[in-house]
Amino acid sequence: MKTNLSDLAIFGGTPAFENTLHVGSPNIGDRKLLMKRINDLLDRKWLTNDGLFVQEFEHRICKLLGVKHCIATCNGTIALEIAIRAAGLTGEVIIPSFTFIATAHSLQWQEITPVFCDSSKEQLTIDVSKIEALITPRTTGIIGVHLWGRPCNIDVLKDIAEKHKLKLLFDASHAFSCTYKGKMIGNFGLAEVFSFHATKFINSFEGGAVVTNNDEFAEKIRLMRNFGFADYDDVIYIGTNGKMNEISAAMGITSLESLDNFVSVNKANYQKYKKELMNIPGIKLLQYNNKDKANYQFIVVLVEEEMFQLSRDDLYHILKTENIFARRYFYPGCHKMEPYRSYFPHAGLLLPQTEKLLEQVLCLPTGTAIHEKNILKICKIIRYIANNASFIREKLSIPKL
Ligand SMILES: *Cc1c(COP(=O)(O)O)cnc(C)c1O
Repeated sequence: MKTNLSDLAIFGGTPAFENTLHVGSPNIGDRKLLMKRINDLLDRKWLTNDGLFVQEFEHRICKLLGVKHCIATCNGTIALEIAIRAAGLTGEVIIPSFTFIATAHSLQWQEITPVFCDSSKEQLTIDVSKIEALITPRTTGIIGVHLWGRPCNIDVLKDIAEKHKLKLLFDASHAFSCTYKGKMIGNFGLAEVFSFHATKFINSFEGGAVVTNNDEFAEKIRLMRNFGFADYDDVIYIGTNGKMNEISAAMGITSLESLDNFVSVNKANYQKYKKELMNIPGIKLLQYNNKDKANYQFIVVLVEEEMFQLSRDDLYHILKTENIFARRYFYPGCHKMEPYRSYFPHAGLLLPQTEKLLEQVLCLPTGTAIHEKNILKICKIIRYIANNASFIREKLSIPKL
């Protein structure tokens, strides 16, 4: 769909956005401090292999989360792969299909079958009522995913895992600095995994971490991160190269120092969106409860076509022609991407709610790069589209609902 709103001659010649707005513009902390740290590490000539900045980054995360061990890695996917291997998972592992593809790939990469569970309509996280039906003699674990900074149903997952003697891990890529019932995310299950990719709320260019309160597990992860080296000439384990480098750690530390600022900007953006999107039929902004601490790193709306009169995809394409690059996370869904769609061509039959979410969710731009006037304009355009939805539908020859 190429037509933009001004082509439709309904926008009264309103010019397209002067700048391009993306989901996932990186948050950048204090540039001067970062440069100083980069100079320091060059002076030290210690560029990687458990350098001072990596140690400091890990230490600061432990303190912030109140967790015993943090092992920083080169990215979140490797952190997941190492945690899965160190936990001894094999056979089948239950995960939600409604997640980023890395959750599934980090299992399949080591020949473990991800078994896709549906997600709940209210929470958007794994539907705990559907897990037990998926457990087979081959099942060894569950990976819960805290989506959009909102924790999944940890207590119930814990009960199910204990009852069936399954290992429980969490993909906490979206939930750094968030809480569950007053306790920091990072303290649940056998271990939790973070991503510090450039698009995440705290970033180290590329990076990730495994955090755990289990001493033995932490030791295993440290070995696996560094080829299994226990000493200079002694490899006692199979490992990989999952090390974080010093320049990434320098960025990570610098990001951590701006954490409060990033959260307050994101929260203010969220509140602005909330106000501006209020009472648009068919546009539902994801809510946060007041009990848990959220990082507000995503602006998530659900588009209900019957009410909005256009589909999420229609809205997505029209916004694109206005230089607003929203994202349809996690469209088309893990179970509809390779190799899973070939392995499990009928997986969707057991994932009705996931399939619906995949058609409805749209993430709008936020973060420190997005200013109030941008949000006002984005919301004005969405409201305009809503007010003219049936006309646009006709103009674009979209069949009647
Ligand atoms: C970003 C992300 C990952 C992967 O992290 P990388 O650091 O990009 O490898 C895994 N799971 C989820 C839910 C993510 O959002």
